[in-house]
Amino acid sequence: MRRTEAARFGSSPLLTKWPSGLRATRVKRNRVGRVDHPSAPAARVVALGDGWLARRAMALLRRLPPAAGAPVLIERVAELRDRHGAAHAGSFLRERRIALACTRAEFPRVFVHEWFHFVWARAGNSLRRDFESLLAAERAAGARGELGWSAEWRKRALTAQQAVDRSRLWREYCCESFCDTAAWLYAGVADHAEFTLALRFRRPRQAWFAQNISGQRLSI
Ligand SMILES: [Zn+2]
Repeated sequence: MRRTEAARFGSSPLLTKWPSGLRATRVKRNRVGRVDHPSAPAARVVALGDGWLARRAMALLRRLPPAAGAPVLIERVAELRDRHGAAHAGSFLRERRIALACTRAEFPRVFVHEWFHFVWARAGNSLRRDFESLLAAERAAGARGELGWSAEWRKRALTAQQAVDRSRLWREYCCESFCDTAAWLYAGVADHAEFTLALRFRRPRQAWFAQNISGQRLSI
């Protein structure tokens, strides 16, 4: 299943779709990162010819829940555009590649965000739906703001009906919110202008990650 799912992902950056045929029957809580083989090698990054990037990425990986999987290539590019315009970074899931066009100062948040795109892609529908439910509850409680611009602009653009219907835009928002929440938690950035979600809504996200992500062995 996972292999099929991964294989179906296209290679456009900021990819967030998953096959509708895999939409979950809700089963017992699926912890992200269950790895079939506990001895599976830890995923690492490869930054060809860029020692600074390699060192910084490896230092960040040590802060994250361990993840098993094939290596991910990271590379700096002069500029990057996706279908929404200029972007800091893009993850190419099938190619296992992250392209970065951010400043050094923004690197920790951007890298962790992109790394978690790989986590989301392998997390399984049950867990993704669980995180969606958390966001839906936030929305019902009137939460504004987010933990990164990537999630925030999508959140602002969503209509109530799109959320209820779990439209593609809603699912894209949930994916970006997951990655931004991970970056908020793990990148070592205490405060940032893009952390606009109220504290009372941050705590449940932190608790959700503590239960489902932190301490788990992830699969990417
Ligand atoms: Zn993203």
